[in-house]
Amino acid sequence: MLSVKDLFKSYTVGDFTQKALNGVSIDFRKTEFVMILGPSGCGKTTLLNIVGGLDHYDSGDLTIFGKSTKDFKENDWDMYRNNSIGFIFQTHNLIPHLSVLQNVEMGMTLSGVSATKRHIQAKMVLEKVGLKDHIYKRPNQLSGGQSQRVAIARALANNPDIVLADEPTGSLDSTTSIQIMELMKEIAKDKLVIMVTHNHEVADAYATRIIRLKDGEVIDDTNPVIDEKETKVEFSLKKTAMTFKTAIISSINNIKTKLGRTLLTAFAGSIGIIGIGLILSLSNGLDQEISSFEQQTIAGYPISVTSSRIDYEKLRTLGTTNLEKYPEQEFATVYKPVTTASAFIPNVITEQYVNWVEEYVAGEGKNLVAGVKYVRFMNLSLFRTNEDETYSRIYTEVSTQTTNPTQTLNTSPTGPFFNRLPEGQLMNNSYDLLYGSFPSLEKVDDSYEILLVVDDYNRIYVNTLEKLGYTNVGLEEGQNNQFEFDDLVGKTFRLYPGTWSNSTSDINDSINLKISGIVRLKKGTSVGLFYNGLGIPSNVFDYLYDSFPTQVGAIESIYIYANNFSDKDTVKEYLDSYNDFYGYDEESTERIEYVDLAGTFTSIVRGVLDTISIVLIGFAAISLLVSSIMIAIITYISVLERIKEIGVLRALGARKKDISRVFNTENLLIGFVSGFVGITISYLLIIPINMIIEKYADMPNVASLLPLHAIILAIISVLLAFIAGYIPAQLAAKKDPVEALRTE
Ligand code: ADP
Ligand code: MG
Repeated sequence: MLSVKDLFKSYTVGDFTQKALNGVSIDFRKTEFVMILGPSGCGKTTLLNIVGGLDHYDSGDLTIFGKSTKDFKENDWDMYRNNSIGFIFQTHNLIPHLSVLQNVEMGMTLSGVSATKRHIQAKMVLEKVGLKDHIYKRPNQLSGGQSQRVAIARALANNPDIVLADEPTGSLDSTTSIQIMELMKEIAKDKLVIMVTHNHEVADAYATRIIRLKDGEVIDDTNPVIDEKETKVEFSLKKTAMTFKTAIISSINNIKTKLGRTLLTAFAGSIGIIGIGLILSLSNGLDQEISSFEQQTIAGYPISVTSSRIDYEKLRTLGTTNLEKYPEQEFATVYKPVTTASAFIPNVITEQYVNWVEEYVAGEGKNLVAGVKYVRFMNLSLFRTNEDETYSRIYTEVSTQTTNPTQTLNTSPTGPFFNRLPEGQLMNNSYDLLYGSFPSLEKVDDSYEILLVVDDYNRIYVNTLEKLGYTNVGLEEGQNNQFEFDDLVGKTFRLYPGTWSNSTSDINDSINLKISGIVRLKKGTSVGLFYNGLGIPSNVFDYLYDSFPTQVGAIESIYIYANNFSDKDTVKEYLDSYNDFYGYDEESTERIEYVDLAGTFTSIVRGVLDTISIVLIGFAAISLLVSSIMIAIITYISVLERIKEIGVLRALGARKKDISRVFNTENLLIGFVSGFVGITISYLLIIPINMIIEKYADMPNVASLLPLHAIILAIISVLLAFIAGYIPAQLAAKKDPVEALRTE
């Protein structure tokens, strides 16, 4: 049935080698009650561990049912321990966080026996050891004798052929010991029971065979096997494998026993998740806010190509000097003031460029472009009706390709007088209405409505007033004449498209203009828009182009309106390709560039936002790292605390894999909880955050955590916890079961 031959085993600690077994040979019968006696340190436990497959021999052989174990693999040993061996230790070694029933079931759980069968079997053995009424108790609710009987039930549960007991009564009082011994005797009726004791009386009273060991050798055997006619028993090993469910139950139970600590760890882990979640939801919300801003204003912010553009970098440095202030030198520096004109780069729109745009709008870009507007050069004259019904010309602006185009920066009083107002929403977004109303796009009382624009100080250039026909405004040096807005609003003029020659036809061709309101550029609005003079809505220009084609000159600027923001990007790519196609490099005077005011603005904001988000996420990631390290430490502590349990599980046939699985499952659970807690708290925090943002920035519901981001964060949390606890879990799996059981 079972035999050991010439077993040698020694332990080396440092440079000292201790011989534990020194050539032990014993044959065991299928059913007998063998007591192993001997002084402390003679090798009894070692022999038992080797027979039980917990420890491995150095040389010799262990034969089970006639089969040598020399070629046994790790897995074979695990199966052998699980199917054929029942271990009873000196201390009961019950798993504290499992109930009595679960403890007894553990061996069967490991070998994948179904739950119903497990319960029936476990209850049966528990009844056998007299503990039918205690099955739902925890080990710490039992007396010593009861605990040891649970340990016996556990050893018997899987119906092993061999029961090994290492001084099972060693820690019990004599009455309890007798009860346990009676139980052992009962078991030995149909099993091979090998029990270690140093109590001669116990051995004499119960054993059917007594083997004495001394210094690792057999010195006496009361009933050796002489007759070799052993009943050959079919030998097969059943596979053991802990199911994922078992691992989860074990993990949950263990987590329950140290709930506070686990929750704290999960909470610490969730802080990083909360940080990242909030940053993501804020940056995502602001990004959407920018997008909707872009969408809303898309109509007002076309891609504009004007016949000259501003070199902002140059404009910024104009007039700056590196000369020292208040110098103490006896010479003067000769200097010529710069004009802003040098900051204008010619961007002359050629027929070739117009064709390039038209071709696109008619073909490839048909579905991307909502509209194109061409602004043309045109001479304009202003005149007024005198009291005697005669007409006087006030001002003619000659618009040719050599003058500054209209809609550009107007920083000098001599700039253009007739300024094209920005269209649609952009006008309202760019100017504050100080008096009157914004112009109507329809003719009102036979007049087209226009605006008068004052500068940041509500100033009006004297030239502007003169061009409007106000003579003798009487501006002396240092004098600030005042004009009531009311005096200006409602004034009408006549505008003639072309150069005024005071003929009757010219008068008939002219139109009425009326100032409908006074506006001022909004605080903080960037350059690119004019800020002093007359603002003419584009519908007035459109009317003039249509009605007086002979007066219309070359194209001065093009405005392209895209359907939406992404279409706009596609259109811009097409426009970019113009310069590449004709080979106009940065230096080329034929190079034609466009301006996308909205795009530049929002891309700057986006860039800043992205940078801030990355920095913040970096910080949050550090807290994630810290919490991962915490999880690693907690798992490691947990491994140290549960070394005994690891040994027991291994003795019951758990594979290394099963051990690491228990710990890994626990870490996954912690990761899951911390992810869940983190996301929940994030969602909760978003509520007050949005309230604060709404209060200060007047933007409702900005922060919002996308479900996809929430899911990704939860997965990250689970993964991090798993990775952090992986090494400690592997350490646990590698623990030597013998040493694990020896630790107190
Ligand atoms: P017993 O159970 O008879 O008291 P053991 O089998 O536990 O004795 O030990 C036999 C000898 O081997 C003792 O001297 C003990 O110190 C030694 N020994 C047992 N296990 C180890 C080990 N893991 N490392 C080092 N020495 C060991
Ligand atoms: Mg011992």
